[in-house]
Amino acid sequence: MTVKSADEIELLRENAIIVSKTLAEVAKNIKPGVSTITLDQIAEEFIRAEGAIPGFKGYRGFPGTLCVSTNEEVVHGIPGNRVLRNGDIVSIDCGCQKDGFYGDSAYTFPVGEVSAEVLNLLKRTKESLLLAIDLAVAGRRIGDISSVVQEYVEGFGYSVVRELVGHGIGRQLHEKPDIPNYGKRGSGVKMPVGLTICIEPMINMGVKTVVQDADGWTIRTADRMPSAHFELTVAVRKEKADVLSTFRYIEEVLGSSSI
Ligand code: MG
Ligand code: MG
Repeated sequence: MTVKSADEIELLRENAIIVSKTLAEVAKNIKPGVSTITLDQIAEEFIRAEGAIPGFKGYRGFPGTLCVSTNEEVVHGIPGNRVLRNGDIVSIDCGCQKDGFYGDSAYTFPVGEVSAEVLNLLKRTKESLLLAIDLAVAGRRIGDISSVVQEYVEGFGYSVVRELVGHGIGRQLHEKPDIPNYGKRGSGVKMPVGLTICIEPMINMGVKTVVQDADGWTIRTADRMPSAHFELTVAVRKEKADVLSTFRYIEEVLGSSSI
């Protein structure tokens, strides 16, 4: 587990802002009829125009700039010819790399008219992330973050994916420590000032069990019920986390339809 200097945190912030703005650019184009590969191309072009490079493309052989995961797909969906339809939800996970550091952020969008039940899943998952960020302060433990996410979403009858977790971020996309979305308050390592982490609840409407497709990437729920995913990067501080990435740009695009 490494802590970052003030200068390193600024480089991480620069990357975090690029992925935040890229997600907003993608958000402008999310509508019924658009293909997931089109969204991927929009993201790649935007990232390169910012002087960065896609952070996921080529990572362990992943082919896309974005992970695009619809409905019962949890994460790591590969962009392709699939066309978004009215009533879908789509998780867009975006990574970039600039000046030796990474950015990594995700948001789950409704496509057209989505049922109230599914919109609630999105809303509660996003809220669990914000509750977790409140606990990303020095002296707290990783388990404090994990337990607040788990308790909050389980209170609505949702379940927490176990196989995938948040992570540290820096010169590597995935650094120590793991940030599980389930666990016990007061457990795990104490967070020091300058620790930079991606918190990313992956929350299922039905069972917690997931399966992986034969493509070696796409993770989907075992019961094919919908799943939501939101991710932000924070630097741990004494009183209050410094949130490096932001949903502000996305929410400006979504306006009143924002969840
Ligand atoms: Mg991500
Ligand atoms: Mg991540």
